[in-house]
Amino acid sequence: MLKKINKLLIGTNNKGKLKEIRALLPKKIKILSTSNFNLKSPKETGKTFLENSFIKSRYFSKRTGLVCLADDSGLEIDLLNGSPGIYSARWGGKKGDFKKAIKKVFKELDKKNKNWKKSKVKGRFICALTISFLNKKIAGVVGKVEGTISSTPKGKNGFGYDPIFIPKNKKKTFGEINPSLKYKIDHRYKAFKKVRKFF
Ligand code: IMP
Repeated sequence: MLKKINKLLIGTNNKGKLKEIRALLPKKIKILSTSNFNLKSPKETGKTFLENSFIKSRYFSKRTGLVCLADDSGLEIDLLNGSPGIYSARWGGKKGDFKKAIKKVFKELDKKNKNWKKSKVKGRFICALTISFLNKKIAGVVGKVEGTISSTPKGKNGFGYDPIFIPKNKKKTFGEINPSLKYKIDHRYKAFKKVRKFF
């Protein structure tokens, strides 16, 4: 029998992510966030989303003594050979300026192909989730949502690269789509489905 988790620390200092993660967890779970402990985030030295999510989860669990769920996520663009990938947050600079990150995406795409706006540039959001307690990994999973890159940023919803990502089979960007729909189709939701049994 699995022992159910009823108190959980969410290991992120990103408010956009915290909001989404809260919405995905059952209401009966007591949720704490890193802001309750005034903790900085650790260096993301891993080479994959999964490694980085484990680094964060283990770090926050060890500092608080709580079971911790941490994610690492980002956008992979095929024409950029998978960039920004694990560097998605870092493309926004120290201040996490998402407009700057999107500008960099467009600049890099222009460098690769001046006519990229005329073709459908494929990409995907990826989310790795790790639950750990102190040094022990309880679960590590990955979820993905496929899509294409919009030729201009559209919409004010969400955060990060949402204004330039059009999920497969939809015409609007994540920035235009209602957040309650985004939560049901995105990479984080898909990863969460795989850890539901622990709650
Ligand atoms: P990290 O997981 O904190 O290293 O950062 C992930 C970065 O990927 C975020 O800062 C965003 O730039 C981007 N990202 C991850 N998930 C999403 C999403 O659902 N929408 C838009 N951008 C995202």
